Amino acid sequence: MTKFGCSTCGWRGINVLTAESPFVEFGILRACPVCRNVTLFLICEVEGCTKEATCGTLTAEGVYMWCCMEHFDEIAGANKEEE
Ligand SMILES: [Zn+2]
Ligand SMILES: [Zn+2]
Repeated sequence: MTKFGCSTCGWRGINVLTAESPFVEFGILRACPVCRNVTLFLICEVEGCTKEATCGTLTAEGVYMWCCMEHFDEIAGANKEEE
């Protein structure tokens, strides 16, 4: 489940406001449900982690997962061992 954080008010969660983007065809704008700013960033999807997700990788289960640098090594490393 993709998690989001808001850099304006500090909100964290999954239920963001979405709207069709007027700038990109089929694009979606995501806004914070609390302050309504479009200042969201992705959060590491590892259970319990609240760091900003700066990269992503496929897990051993073949699911794409957003994660922070710290967990990237863990997930990517575990993925390699499976191969
Ligand atoms: Zn906010
Ligand atoms: Zn993490």
